[in-house]
Amino acid sequence: MVGTYSYSLVLVSVLVAILASYTALDLATRITMSRGTAARAWLIGGAFSMGLGIFSMHFVGMLAFSLPVPMGYDVTVTLLSLLIAIVVSGFALYTVSRDSLSAKNLILGGILMGIGICAMHYTGMAAMETHPPIVYDPMLFSASVAIAIAASHAALWIAFNLRAAVNWMKYAKVGSAVIMGFAITGMHYTGMAAARFADNTICLTGPLVDNSWMAGTLAGTTFLILCATLALSVLDSRMASKTAKMAASLKHANDELQKVALLDPLTKLPNRVLLEDRIEQAIAQAERSKLNCAVIFVDLDRFKTINDSLGHTVGDELLRAVGARLQTLVRAEDTVSRLGGDEFVILLREVIDADNAAQVGDKILAELRLPFRAHEKELYITPSIGISLYPLTGHTAQMLITQADAAMYNAKQEGRNGCRLFASEMSTFFPERLMMENDLRHAVARREFALYYQPKVDLTNGSVVGMEALLRWQHPSKGLVSPDEFIPLAEDTGLIVPIGRWVIEEACAQNKAWQRAGMPHLRVAINISAVQFKQKDLLDTIKYALETSGLSPEFLEVEVTETVVMQNASQAIVTLEKLSEMGIHVSIDDFGTGYSSLSYLKRFPIDKLKIDRSFIREISSDRDDAAIVRATIALAHNLRLRVIAEGVETEDQLQFLRALGCDEYQGYYKSKPLPANEFARQMRSEIWSQHREREAAPRLLYDTPLSPGQST
Ligand code: C2E
Ligand code: MG
Ligand code: MG
Repeated sequence: MVGTYSYSLVLVSVLVAILASYTALDLATRITMSRGTAARAWLIGGAFSMGLGIFSMHFVGMLAFSLPVPMGYDVTVTLLSLLIAIVVSGFALYTVSRDSLSAKNLILGGILMGIGICAMHYTGMAAMETHPPIVYDPMLFSASVAIAIAASHAALWIAFNLRAAVNWMKYAKVGSAVIMGFAITGMHYTGMAAARFADNTICLTGPLVDNSWMAGTLAGTTFLILCATLALSVLDSRMASKTAKMAASLKHANDELQKVALLDPLTKLPNRVLLEDRIEQAIAQAERSKLNCAVIFVDLDRFKTINDSLGHTVGDELLRAVGARLQTLVRAEDTVSRLGGDEFVILLREVIDADNAAQVGDKILAELRLPFRAHEKELYITPSIGISLYPLTGHTAQMLITQADAAMYNAKQEGRNGCRLFASEMSTFFPERLMMENDLRHAVARREFALYYQPKVDLTNGSVVGMEALLRWQHPSKGLVSPDEFIPLAEDTGLIVPIGRWVIEEACAQNKAWQRAGMPHLRVAINISAVQFKQKDLLDTIKYALETSGLSPEFLEVEVTETVVMQNASQAIVTLEKLSEMGIHVSIDDFGTGYSSLSYLKRFPIDKLKIDRSFIREISSDRDDAAIVRATIALAHNLRLRVIAEGVETEDQLQFLRALGCDEYQGYYKSKPLPANEFARQMRSEIWSQHREREAAPRLLYDTPLSPGQST
């Protein structure tokens, strides 16, 4: 008995095979590009839709074939062949989505997959339940197995190599799908041709089951499922490529930041970091050429008066003009830098001797006395100048800068407007600094420190979710000293360690006291400086503070800057991991001001990024700042980090951050840092106003559980 084919159904089966192949190739990409649960979901879902695709190609092909007797298919056996198709597809997707595909695995995988396809096909044929059973032509049967195995090999190889397809390779994907589609159908129809039906064949299921509706339904359903899978895949890949673009733009932003990190923003002159680097280079070179190099410290006398009386804009313009004039006075290979304020430092790469350096100093003195024009005003200034010399006075960059600074200080003491060369009797410890250090040494014991607290606010609902503890020093004669003034000194002298210990203990104790008093449980953040972070007993100090206060670790957060964690990355990872294991949260403070890149930070167990306030200040007007913040937020979210913005002062900035998807904010807009009792008072009134809002909308009372302090 000879069967006949419906050619339109044959065509449909080929198209289904091509679509299934294309979907399979696309899914291989998705699985490779995803991680964890997402990858597993793509693998399982992919196995189903691809298995269904292959199976329905096969089944439509069967339906395209008819014998001159009534035909039908046993449902259980048919479903069994579908199951085989799904398992084979899952196996194939798994094989091609692994990191590598060795020749051995390719061969083995191809054979298994080919056998699987054959198993599906011939099980499907058996569903016809013909009597007498189908006899297969050995040659054609072997050919169909060979085609299946060869096609599987090709499919695996192509899919593995195309999975990272970029744009132009999309066409290669379509081409491969066509080839794979034809190979699969080739196997099928060879297998069909191998079947020999006896003349008296009857189909046992034939009269019982009517399959005429099957072809249309199956092809249609499969088509829809494959399309849906593809659509999902395309959507997912769009999102992935969007993320990749953001990663690129962040990289760009990071590069920009690195440049910015080396230049003084106001004058665009090198800053201290770059200056120190240049001095080290100059020292190395001077070593070789047996010459000297000199460091000249220039400080403008009474600059503060100009700034205060004429305003910052005039002051800034004057500083730019001074920088520009200094540059005209030295050679191109020399470096003019600004350390901040009105302090400029010049590196002379090659000088013959001290006299030679002093000549340059005198020249600077004379030139800076000439008037400057800033904002239509004629301004007169005088500088005080100090000089140090390698190798005569000092041997390291830091030492040379400190010595030049001390010499400058000496010049100022002796009536300003002069130039001095460093001499050993000029102490590099300035009296003022010494006094301050002495005061600082006793400040803990004299209870002169206090912690101020500033709320951290959830951007989505405006509720306070935590607070940062900020250190204040009530100096007996100077009044309130800001941390920016004494923390660097405390770090230099190592006093930061006992001071920091006090901060940790005080913050834990205060937070626990608030919790006991019924305030909502909030997380308190403390700042850890570089020196402190390197202390071996930091973890013990923190544990001790938690134990004695009774505060649960989840209510403590540490803020460290990126520079701190980058300085000794391998050690930092260990410390951060231990903190994280204890349940303490870790934030990266002042993010964007250091050298690091976010991709590097990925390795650290951190919870949150705090974007530095310098990016927030002009976020609504400066496009670069906005772009950096946008990229940082997107990338951080990708790494499952929360993002907080600091220094938010206006509604505008807040709106902007909200639009960018920032999670939290901190800043004067909500509240300045407040002494503990005022902070508590503010929190209480906040809770009451929330409470009143709830009263106004009684329904909410039942929706939202009240915390202990909010009892009605
Ligand atoms: P930080 O950790 O980045 O703290 C944020 C600083 O921004 C605080 O300055 C805060 O008062 C200020 N600030 C908050 N909101 C706004 C705003 O809207 N606009 C502006 N312009 N500023 C805002 P503060 O208290 O003077 O502290 C300065 C730095 O001193 C801190 O920077 C931190 O690095 C360090 N610091 C403070 N307390 C401690 C401490 O206990 N230990 C250590 N190691 N460092 C501390
Ligand atoms: Mg901080
Ligand atoms: Mg900060």
